[in-house]
This record gives sequence, structure tokens and C-alpha cells, in this order.
Amino acid sequence: MTADLRDLYQEVILDHNKRPRNFRKMEDADRKADGHNPLCGDKVTVYVKMEDGIIRDVSFVGSGCAISTASASLMTELLKGKTEEEAGALFQGFRDMVAGPAPSTHVDLGKLKVLAGVREFPARVKCATLAWHTVKTALEHPGGTASTE
Ligand code: ZN
Repeated sequence: MTADLRDLYQEVILDHNKRPRNFRKMEDADRKADGHNPLCGDKVTVYVKMEDGIIRDVSFVGSGCAISTASASLMTELLKGKTEEEAGALFQGFRDMVAGPAPSTHVDLGKLKVLAGVREFPARVKCATLAWHTVKTALEHPGGTASTE
């Protein structure tokens, strides 16, 4: 990766940390789950509104480090309009990118690629995947709690 691209990625992460997208409680959510990353202290609550098997709206609140906040923010932008299956495939692809043996080539991760650098910092992988674990819990076991431990 070139230095320029690295700077750009860094900028996107800082921007999403400073102005997280979809950062709000959702009063009429059908699914909701809490997530916790004890290693770093990141906490997140993810809200989802489903309609005909499609994620119509997704939002989050919480407090955590820049990586966890930026990752949650990017995730909410990407998941709107996706089916549960598509959301699962994105999570799989994202996990492969930051922690798998090799980055996945069959899922288009779009903007999530800005977090590819997390791969070089194993302690931050849990920060980056927390919101994803939490949305997965919200979809599969609404009201549950996800922990990265
Ligand atoms: Zn963190």
C-alpha cells in the first residue's frame, strides 16, 4: 500500500470516529443487542429494523476507541438495504480481511477496506469486529449480548 493511500484510509477512520454515522438510539428497532470488548473497554449497542428480510435501518450507540467507533459507523452505512445473508457474507469477508489467513476475494467490502491495516495490529482486531459480532447477535439472538472474549 502506498503512503498516500494509507493517509487517506487514516483520514476516513478519523472522520468516522469524530462524526459517527447512524449514531443514535432507535426507539422502534425490532432487534437490538449489546456488545462488549473487555480487552479494550469498547461498548456498543446495535439497533436493527428489519422489513421483508431486509435491513431497513441500523444504528448504534456506545463508547470505545477510534477503531471500534469508526468500524461501527462504517458498518451501519454498509448494512442498510442488505439481507441477513448479505450481512453475514460481509462479516465473513471483513473478518477474513482483518484476521483471516488471507483476505477474501469474493466479497466486495467497499469502504470497509480502510480498516485493512488493522491486520497488522492483532490487539485491535477485536475493536474492529465488535460491532459486527453485535449486529450478528442482534439478528440471530435479539436482546442478547456479544462479547469478543
Ligand atoms: Zn478498542
